[in-house]
Amino acid sequence: MRFDIITIFPKIFDSYLKESLIARAQKNKIIQIKIWNLRDFCKDKRKTVDDKPFGGGPGMVLKVEPIYRAVNFIKNKNKNKKQRVILFSPRGKELNLKVLKRLLRYDQLILICGRYEGVDERVAKYIADEEISIGNYILSGGELPALVLIEALSRLIPGFLGKYESLEYARGSWPVYTRPAVFSPKKNVKWKVPNVLLSGNHKKIEEWRKKYLKKYE
Ligand code: SAH
Repeated sequence: MRFDIITIFPKIFDSYLKESLIARAQKNKIIQIKIWNLRDFCKDKRKTVDDKPFGGGPGMVLKVEPIYRAVNFIKNKNKNKKQRVILFSPRGKELNLKVLKRLLRYDQLILICGRYEGVDERVAKYIADEEISIGNYILSGGELPALVLIEALSRLIPGFLGKYESLEYARGSWPVYTRPAVFSPKKNVKWKVPNVLLSGNHKKIEEWRKKYLKKYE
């Protein structure tokens, strides 16, 4: 899976993508991530990525032309790939496991990160294949949504997680505990680990964990 991120703040991605599993997956070529600076697709000398909204109002709006050029450039470089253009928007379809599984079918996702007051609506109308939201709240940009999507999707790609972690682990989540089995924060108070986890009965442990996986099925 290849991800191409279009942003006006490319440096945001520097540290996160260079750590832990996501760094290892890039090294092992399980995923490829390329960051594109929207400014590089501006034709004017001042590299203008934004402008005032028609009709007035506060804030600035990302312009359609540089985004059009960036998406076309990226698309043409990888014509043999099954591509999907995604615009992050608080008005988009909310990201969940079902959406992620559908996106797994593509080879390349082109991710457009909005900023300021948003993105000229013609990007949603004519350039993006779909709009995705990561939740019912407003962030300052599409960069965190891009990282969330990349990480959540990558965990579903075989080989992303270590060999001890199955895909079931990638999809689900259950409560976990580690030593000590009893923690006493103050006198006469005991915080205990559920007995089943200490029982050594693997069948029972499995059943207990499976209860929590239901919502991911
Ligand atoms: N009033 C604007 C808010 C823009 S927020 C609007 O209604 O679109 C600036 C950018 O941050 C958006 O263009 C989008 O790319 C991103 N963004 C903010 N909240 C988001 C969310 N919940 N999910 C996905 N992207 C979001």
